[in-house]
Amino acid sequence: MVKCVSILGSTGSIGRQTLDVIRHKNIRVAALTAGSNVERMEKQCREFVPAVAVMATREAADALKQKLQDLPIRVLYGEAGLLEAATMEQADCVITAVVGMLGLKPTLAAIRAGKRIGLANKETLVCAGELVMAEAEKYGAQIIPVDSEHSAIFQCLMGVGNRREVKKLILTCSGGPFYGMEREALKKVTRADALRHPNWKMGEKITIDCATLMNKGLEVIEAMHLYHLSVDKVEVVIHRQSIVHSMVECVDGAVMAQMGVPDMRLPIQLALTYPQREECPVDALDLTTCGALTFAKPDLEAFPSLKLAMECASRGGNACAVMNGANEVAVALFLDNRIGFYDMYDLVSGAVAAVPFVKNPSLDEILEADRLAREFVQEKMCN
Ligand code: NDP
Ligand code: MG
Repeated sequence: MVKCVSILGSTGSIGRQTLDVIRHKNIRVAALTAGSNVERMEKQCREFVPAVAVMATREAADALKQKLQDLPIRVLYGEAGLLEAATMEQADCVITAVVGMLGLKPTLAAIRAGKRIGLANKETLVCAGELVMAEAEKYGAQIIPVDSEHSAIFQCLMGVGNRREVKKLILTCSGGPFYGMEREALKKVTRADALRHPNWKMGEKITIDCATLMNKGLEVIEAMHLYHLSVDKVEVVIHRQSIVHSMVECVDGAVMAQMGVPDMRLPIQLALTYPQREECPVDALDLTTCGALTFAKPDLEAFPSLKLAMECASRGGNACAVMNGANEVAVALFLDNRIGFYDMYDLVSGAVAAVPFVKNPSLDEILEADRLAREFVQEKMCN
């Protein structure tokens, strides 16, 4: 069990649920970080009194400093602040709950400082999975997944003696708010429709990714890296109820599943208490009242982003970084009501086709792929 954590993205959905878990435990907080939400950060600082608090900009940091004058908290900002929060001496674990590729550098820094990583920020592994996993091995840093599917697989694998006995991973997918809809109807869906996820309350970016199934595509890539498997060993099944959080199929045909009510506090807590399990403030699963559990194939025609992600996964190189960078901008444009549902796919697949392929990218080449992908989408919007 960890003793002291830094939470990158503490004001977000995962960040707040992490603090909720910590509230019931004897775990100290070394650092909290946020983007622009000064008000929520002030409240969190007053309750948890971290040594360091970080905001995205100098303006936000100045505003926070004003409010925290009576407390012994160092207020920092920007990338340097995030890097400091990720590497603080007293923290033995870093929960990466910022959204997007901006989590990559702090995650790498935390790994190099030997911290346990409670990894929620999936974009990090999507962009630079090989690099991140290699660094984790080199520095002996544990990466414990917080994403519910990957935590489920992590838990299932505890029951499998030898990785060679794994035949494939089965990632479950709720199907999002638009399950069962066809292309014509999907062309007309709005931001508000897309933000109505049936089972989970999450940040806006991941909620839109769930509506396009890009989230499941990102998760396929995340799973490949975490568990060192090729994309053909990761299957996606639609499971509307979000009770089975994912499965591992073994070579003898046995299928291990992890089940529970959809509540992120369970995987978050496990990332903190592993290898122990402790009581958790989530509802118990009642199988006699949760209804029928159903499983179906995803519709790759109506939801082409999932197919695109699997293609990028098998291409490897910088393809996933390009896809992710373009997707981050496309989702922001959709959230801004500037483009429609399928425009996101068109922009992202356009970027994947346009940005030059690099087979074994260095960190700099990954960052460059991300930059070019974002630029491609912005330029398309200007034309
Ligand atoms: P949220 O949008 O709710 O939170 C994002 C956090 O990042 C906030 O603390 C936000 O601060 C901060 N942030 C935003 N922009 C910046 C910036 N420019 N610089 C520094 N910090 C910034 O996201 P979620 O909690 O939903 O998701 C976080 C990560 O976890 C994502 O990668 C997501 O895919 C993954 N994840 C989330 C799940 C969930 O249930 N929510 C489930 C599985 C994975 P502020 O509040 O000030 O904007
Ligand atoms: Mg997930």
